[in-house]
Amino acid sequence: MGMMERLCGGDLVVLDGATGTELEVRDSPQSSDASWAECSVTNPDIVRSVHEDYVRSGADVITTNTYSTGPHVLRQIGREDAIAPWNRASVAIARDAISSAAGGREVLVAGSVSAFGNGAMRYPSMDGKFAWGEDNPDLLGANFHEQIAILVEAGVDLVLLEFLGATADDIEIGIGMALAFDLPVVASLSAAVNGEGRAVLTNVTPQSDVGRSGTTVATAVRRIASSGVAAICAMHSEIDEIETILPAIRSEWSGPMGAYPNRTGFWNGLRWIFTEDVTPEDYASKAHRWVELGASIIGGCCGTTPAMIAATSARLRRENMSPSN
Ligand SMILES: [Zn+2]
Repeated sequence: MGMMERLCGGDLVVLDGATGTELEVRDSPQSSDASWAECSVTNPDIVRSVHEDYVRSGADVITTNTYSTGPHVLRQIGREDAIAPWNRASVAIARDAISSAAGGREVLVAGSVSAFGNGAMRYPSMDGKFAWGEDNPDLLGANFHEQIAILVEAGVDLVLLEFLGATADDIEIGIGMALAFDLPVVASLSAAVNGEGRAVLTNVTPQSDVGRSGTTVATAVRRIASSGVAAICAMHSEIDEIETILPAIRSEWSGPMGAYPNRTGFWNGLRWIFTEDVTPEDYASKAHRWVELGASIIGGCCGTTPAMIAATSARLRRENMSPSN
């Protein structure tokens, strides 16, 4: 069975871990207000090495370094000229990494698209200030469309929508735009558990901290469940909250679901500091539990590493895990 059939059919598929924070670990820091986007042109060898390490760790899908290359970021920082080149370069690097590291194994390229920089989310500026993007649904839709068109033309295998801090309206807009292209679309929601023990979408505070919105995950998933997405994942959520978030997704969605959470950490104005110690074996054990809860797509977000993906891939495959629903 091909990897795309596995992914869309709910068989176990391993994603990669963090791209941006792993670039930082390898001395390729955020070099502009577009987060790590520029690394694809300033440090392509380092970006490639991150992808290669995930491929060698057993990832079945690697994610392009395009989380913050949307027009809603690059226009704001005066780099409209970079929209096409940075997105195209990121796809080419991912393809190169698979050619050099996969040894003939099938690995898919997911084109990351986010609402980062949109009005729903402030983003930290390298001068320490914060900027708002314009909160304009029509513009956001056009921006999503513009970036996805470039990624599709550059050869991604699927579109990975990463909705950290996005509203349910923005999520619907992103999905609507992505589905206009003839590729599978995976929608990933960032969520947290509120004081009542409910999984809710995250929002992002003016200080760029991740907070809790009033929209439950179940409500958001209900809105997108019949849209035509191939899978729904919990992304950039606390590791220990995934056990609460997955059942909330499952309550409104019977298709493939997944989890790629982040380690707890904070941005200190210069770099990310991760305060949560998680060994690769710990991470693999938690991933094992997520599969028991029905997740078939397993990876990691900010602060996760190739070692965690290697341990997770090895454990899930050794036990021949298949998701239970
Ligand atoms: Zn993250």
